[in-house]
Amino acid sequence: MTREHLIKPLLSAHYPKIDYGKGVFLYDEHGKAYLDASSGAVTAGIGHGVQEVIDAMLAQAQKVSFVYRSQFTSEPAERLAKRLSDLAPGHDYWSFFVNSGSEATETAMKIAIQYWQEQGRLGKNKVISRRMSYHGITLGALSMSGHVTRRRRFIPLLEELPIVAAPYCYRCPYQLSAASCGQSCADDLETNIKRIGADHIAAFIAEPIIGAAGGAVVPPAGYYERIKAICEQYDILFIADEVMTGIARTGTMFGMEHWGVEPDLIALGKGLSAGYTPIAATLVKDRVMEPILAGSQIVMSGHTFSANPQSAATALAVLDYIAARQLVDAAEEKGRYLRQKLERIAANRAIIGDVRGKGLLLGLEFVADRASKRIFPVSLGVTTRLVERAQSKGLLVYPAAGGVDGEGDAVIVAPPLVITTEEIDLLASLLEESIAEVMGEVM
Ligand code: PLP
Repeated sequence: MTREHLIKPLLSAHYPKIDYGKGVFLYDEHGKAYLDASSGAVTAGIGHGVQEVIDAMLAQAQKVSFVYRSQFTSEPAERLAKRLSDLAPGHDYWSFFVNSGSEATETAMKIAIQYWQEQGRLGKNKVISRRMSYHGITLGALSMSGHVTRRRRFIPLLEELPIVAAPYCYRCPYQLSAASCGQSCADDLETNIKRIGADHIAAFIAEPIIGAAGGAVVPPAGYYERIKAICEQYDILFIADEVMTGIARTGTMFGMEHWGVEPDLIALGKGLSAGYTPIAATLVKDRVMEPILAGSQIVMSGHTFSANPQSAATALAVLDYIAARQLVDAAEEKGRYLRQKLERIAANRAIIGDVRGKGLLLGLEFVADRASKRIFPVSLGVTTRLVERAQSKGLLVYPAAGGVDGEGDAVIVAPPLVITTEEIDLLASLLEESIAEVMGEVM
């Protein structure tokens, strides 16, 4: 056996070595092209090799790449915080910078608990999340996540936090229809708050559109409006985990804009730097900062690389690029075009049970039988087959967990927002070929 040193996701698997990227394509060391229809892990929002961002990174590196947050602030970090406050729903947010989405959601959890502590309400320390959810891989973030396969190995180490129903209309937990359900899944939050007692609950956390744990699952109309009203009624903070949906991905700058809801805290990651450097952020509404400012004055979180000027300058350059190219609108328009293509594929291929999502965060759920929505046996590994078949043809799609507890099959299709209609046509034809071949094997 050849001695290796890099721990890869699946140790026995072979991973192509990427040489460079340009636009929506990645090229491996043998010159094979991959159309990046997953933006990596829904991250490379502006595509690869953008010169304006590279120039900004170089300019910042020539000034200073690192300062320690406990000793200094920096112009890029301050400017980025102001920019995010101006962009976020309802404005008036402070930013705490971290390095990954997991750190951003975990910091949101800690600030929510601290908010109540500063007011002497020490019992309000639980965060409610949803059955189908993924908020990150560190132990605090994983405690708030319902993603079964990512939790399984660490269950003894996780906090037991309350879980409520997910707004998963394709397999409605109440067997109701989205048009007339009255948002029973949102009411489940209220039922659980009453059961546990609002005095024990600091916050509720939700992804605007469920990503890895569902495959771009969009809630029924009125869901988030009802959730926000429940949170306000019972004195519970609302954390929007916008790590996947934030920064133009769904056709609005923040996913929550689709429902006109202003979260108390927002977690951002992935698209914030579009993958050019690691940076993530926890946005905190003014009113949540108030008792901390009047109290201890210290947000007890932080990492060595927090508020790194190099990453902040990169994120600013990404936001400039998004504004200059009007990529929020592009996500909406291109998303509509891609969705039509996916619906056309679904019309021809009975393995596709559902096409969903918003903007350029779209999902396909696969079923063994469309009428009964029967899932495939796990042993068939339909999602993995499809992702691998697509990759062999030079197309990257993102594997997600389908079904209530991840026992089903789904993929996310989320190309960079700069994708052209010709590239979407190519994406759709490679995807349909891959789906047709996998369908031939498993149905
Ligand atoms: N929250 C959501 C909604 C995510 O999709 C992810 C990652 O997929 C995370 C949090 C965790 O982010 P990271 O992998 O950067 O730690």
